[in-house]
Amino acid sequence: MIAARLHAARDLRVEAVPPPEAGPGELLVRVEAAGVCGSVLHVWRTGAFVTRFPVTPGHEVTGVVAAAGDGARTAPGTRVVMDSKVPCGTCPECRAGHPQRCGAIGFLGEVCDGGFAELLAVPEAAVCPVPAGLDARVAVLAEPAAVAMHARRRLERFAPEARRVGVLGGGPIGALCALMLPSTTDVVVAETDPARARLLAAAGLQVTDALPPGFRADAVFDCAGFAGSVASAMAACAPGGIVMLVSLHHGPETLDANVLLAGEHAIAGCHVFEDELPDTLAALAADPARFAAVVTRQVGLAELPGVVAEAAAGGHGGLKTIVVPEGAT
Ligand SMILES: [Zn+2]
Ligand SMILES: [Zn+2]
Repeated sequence: MIAARLHAARDLRVEAVPPPEAGPGELLVRVEAAGVCGSVLHVWRTGAFVTRFPVTPGHEVTGVVAAAGDGARTAPGTRVVMDSKVPCGTCPECRAGHPQRCGAIGFLGEVCDGGFAELLAVPEAAVCPVPAGLDARVAVLAEPAAVAMHARRRLERFAPEARRVGVLGGGPIGALCALMLPSTTDVVVAETDPARARLLAAAGLQVTDALPPGFRADAVFDCAGFAGSVASAMAACAPGGIVMLVSLHHGPETLDANVLLAGEHAIAGCHVFEDELPDTLAALAADPARFAAVVTRQVGLAELPGVVAEAAAGGHGGLKTIVVPEGAT
């Protein structure tokens, strides 16, 4: 089969490899679509998080079950999405049902082969069936949309009264966070790239180029992760407002603790997602057209190395790029 294999940082090759087989308790899945994520670009640039090279990246995956290994019960032909998390399963956090807090967590496409391939084998416990009729080009958003659903749940837990919400950064995660909030929320997305801003507006979102100090949000989602973005998010909050950390940062952030203290702000980390995949798929299936606008480019596996290099260099003002293997329908 054809797969995109990362041999080292900045060395992604599309090549023929032996197809995987479904071991006991595993499913062999024929990939219909896999999303290109900011973390894929980070891994491409640095080789970070990869435990063995070469590895097939891609952790936002949907496909159809082609075969079931011994003991696996999912019927061939079932469309599924993959849980991207590979937690240790035994630490106190894992046992308490918070695998996203596992100190030893790894991810699909980094510690095992992911979805930039025609086929992949995954544990049956790591798949979630897709609601009937939901197109693969929307179902492929389940993983990043679950990140947005988790952030929404965290907001509802810590600030259930929040109505005026800012989203800093209008990439795919920022867009999905904004789209996933209830319709009663007044959401404004800050995005400086004009091409992205147009796509966000076309998706029905309120867009601005910045959330100014004095914006007085009840909550601001940091989906940008640039140096200083946490302080910017806090400055855009009203006193008592909360900053939801959704994006990974590339280094430590500097904060004025007295601003935090005097404004009685809170900061809540939101790491990937917990068990929100089924509810996320239900949300996608309830309004697929709303979410379909996030997918703005479709490429084949052969184009992927060029697409990743271009995106890592800051090119392309789109939202989510998905890979549809040549021959997948
Ligand atoms: Zn991702
Ligand atoms: Zn664990």
